[in-house]
Amino acid sequence: MILAFLLFSSLAACSACNSAQSAQVLSTVQVGNSHIDVILEPGDLAASHEELLTWVRNAAESVVAYYGRYPVAKVALRIIPSGGEGVHGGRTFANEDGGVIRIHVGKGTTAAQLAKDWMLTHEMVHLTFPSVPEEHHWFEEGIATYVEPLARVRAKKLDVHQMWFEVLRDMHQGLPQPGDEGLDHTHTWGRTYWGGALFCFLADVEIRKETNNQKGLDDALRGIMQAGGDMLYDWPLDKALDAGDKATGVPVLKDLYAKMKDAPYPVDLPAMWEQLGIVRDGDTVRFVDTAPLAAIREAITYGTPAVPRKAALNALPQAILLGRRKS
Ligand SMILES: [Zn+2]
Repeated sequence: MILAFLLFSSLAACSACNSAQSAQVLSTVQVGNSHIDVILEPGDLAASHEELLTWVRNAAESVVAYYGRYPVAKVALRIIPSGGEGVHGGRTFANEDGGVIRIHVGKGTTAAQLAKDWMLTHEMVHLTFPSVPEEHHWFEEGIATYVEPLARVRAKKLDVHQMWFEVLRDMHQGLPQPGDEGLDHTHTWGRTYWGGALFCFLADVEIRKETNNQKGLDDALRGIMQAGGDMLYDWPLDKALDAGDKATGVPVLKDLYAKMKDAPYPVDLPAMWEQLGIVRDGDTVRFVDTAPLAAIREAITYGTPAVPRKAALNALPQAILLGRRKS
C-alpha cells in the first residue's frame, strides 16, 4: 500500500515536471457561447499571461464587432514563443475538435506591440468562412485582409484614420499586373491577399450602392456564417456566394466573381477614394463628408446605421413636428 502510494506520487510529480516543459493551458477565454483554449507552448516570453489573454480577448471582440458573434464554438489557440519581437507566422485550420490557430509571438514582444497586432484578428476572421477549393484561396485571404482592420475599428481597437490610411497605401497591391489571368488563376502574393481584399472592397461598395446603403459586405459575410459556412466545413465557392447574395438581396458577389475570376478587371482606385471622400494627407487621411459616396464610406466603416437620421425625421408624424414648432 505504501509502495503503491509512493509510486503514484512519483508518477504525479514526474508528470507535473513534464508539463512545465510542455504546452500549458493559460485559460479558456469565453466569448458569447464560444470557448477559446489559450495554450502556451514552451519558451520564454516578456509578455505576461494576462497581457497575452488581453490580446486574445481584443481579437475575439473585434471579430464579434463585425460578425455579431464568434464563428465557431471551440478553438485551440496555440501561442508559440519564438525569436525577436512582434507577432508573426499565424495559421488557422480546423480539426475534429473545432478551430485551431497557431501563432508565433517573439520573446521580446511588449504589451504595446500586442495591442497593435493585426495578425490574430486576421487568423480569427478565417474561422468565419468555409474552406473553399485551393484555386479560390484568394477569397479566404481577401476576406481576412479586408475585414480585419474594419473589425478592429468597430471594436475600437484601431483608429479609423490609421485604418483608411493603410487601406489607401496598400490596396494597389491587389491590382492586376501585366499577364494577369484573373483571381482564380493568378496565385501571386499581391493578388491572393490584396486582390482578394480588392474584390471585397468593390463588393462592399456595390452592395451598398444597390441597396440604398442598407446592406453591405458585412451582411453577406454574416449570412454565409449563419448559413453554416464556417471554417469547420468544406464548401464549393458558389454555395458561399449564393448564401452571401441571399443575405443582401442583390447578386453582387456572384456577378463580381464572374467578372474577376478569369480576367484582370482593372480598377481606378484613386477615383474610388475620391468618391468615398478619403484624401491622403501625409501619414494620415482626412474625410470629405460632401463626397458622393461619403455615407457609404461611413457604413463600410461602422456598419449600416440602425435608423438613418433623415429617415427617422421623416418617420415622425407631421403633427408632432408642427406641434413642436408652435411651442
Ligand atoms: Zn490568412
